[in-house]
Amino acid sequence: MLLRLHPDLSASQIGALRQRLRTMGYETRRLDLFSEPVLAAIPDEGAETLDAQTLAGVTAVVPPSPTELASRAARPQGTRVRVAEIEIGGDAVAVIAGPCSVESLEQTLETAIAVRAAGAQLLRGGAYKPRTSTYSFQGLGRRGLEILAEVRARTGLGIVTEVLSPEDVSLVAEHADMLQIGARNMQNFPLLKKVGKLRQPVLLKRGAGATLEEWLCAAEYILARGNDQVVLCERGIRTFEEYTRNTLDISAVAAIHELSHLPILVDPSHATGRRSLIASAARAAVAAGADGVCIEVHIRPEESVSDREQTLSPAEFGAIMQSLQGVAHAVGRSIPPPRLAYFGQAVLAAQ
Ligand code: PEP
Ligand code: MN
Repeated sequence: MLLRLHPDLSASQIGALRQRLRTMGYETRRLDLFSEPVLAAIPDEGAETLDAQTLAGVTAVVPPSPTELASRAARPQGTRVRVAEIEIGGDAVAVIAGPCSVESLEQTLETAIAVRAAGAQLLRGGAYKPRTSTYSFQGLGRRGLEILAEVRARTGLGIVTEVLSPEDVSLVAEHADMLQIGARNMQNFPLLKKVGKLRQPVLLKRGAGATLEEWLCAAEYILARGNDQVVLCERGIRTFEEYTRNTLDISAVAAIHELSHLPILVDPSHATGRRSLIASAARAAVAAGADGVCIEVHIRPEESVSDREQTLSPAEFGAIMQSLQGVAHAVGRSIPPPRLAYFGQAVLAAQ
């Protein structure tokens, strides 16, 4: 609920009201989106019904839209999300690349160095993997996170990695610069609530069967808890087509910009599932106005333990990066040049 407050309410009166709402089963947040003071009251399980008549200082109880905070109207100028030193949602197109799974230190480090040389700004890699088959490789877990942190120290690349369950959120947050919520977990509400408590950026992938409205409702779970560092990622939806792994919903890019202030990336790897189609899907994404792309790359793609058919070599990724430059330029965006070397503290210390 949104509670419109009497404009003359003092800070201590607002404090007392928030305390009362807590005992009634609500989390509260001050919103500065409106001209008058407004409190958002977000119900926990078993919360009592709210009635403006019985709440001192409240002039009205208004049901918010389920995408109140995610909607474009809440922040017409758009949101920029900072991940390590990279800004997503500004003029530059962000490029995230790396393996589907973290397999070893050597594989992750070599891939990171190669994608950085080709122009990637952030490194992706899964330590916890949501696999369709329970018999498939499930990721290295905690060891995978440690590898990612070490690779960040050695290369300077910020880390994007998936968190599968609420219990792992704090551990993943300690190691990652951005927490990815995968397609299969887009409506894992306990997980969304947990990352909403963080102040670290979240990459929220679209569920394969989710409408744009459902996707933005999922983002709202995070925003409503105070974390506005949310980036959306279109990764293809399930249709009747079988040639491609999923169907890239390219219209989602412009539609999300129309509906929401949140930045949107495109993952052409999971969207197509085929190495041969990734370049054109990535170019289409940038042409459509995507704020970035997320691409699977492996130092030896033929050895990749997961998503091998859609995994590119560093050379193939480099060629895509070259071709994206012109597309970005044509739509008034830029792609920062590769950072060929990293002379950070950690590398010097290791030498
Ligand atoms: C991934 O990024 O490796 C992944 C599992 O993606 P998605 O959740 O989009 O399937
Ligand atoms: Mn994958």
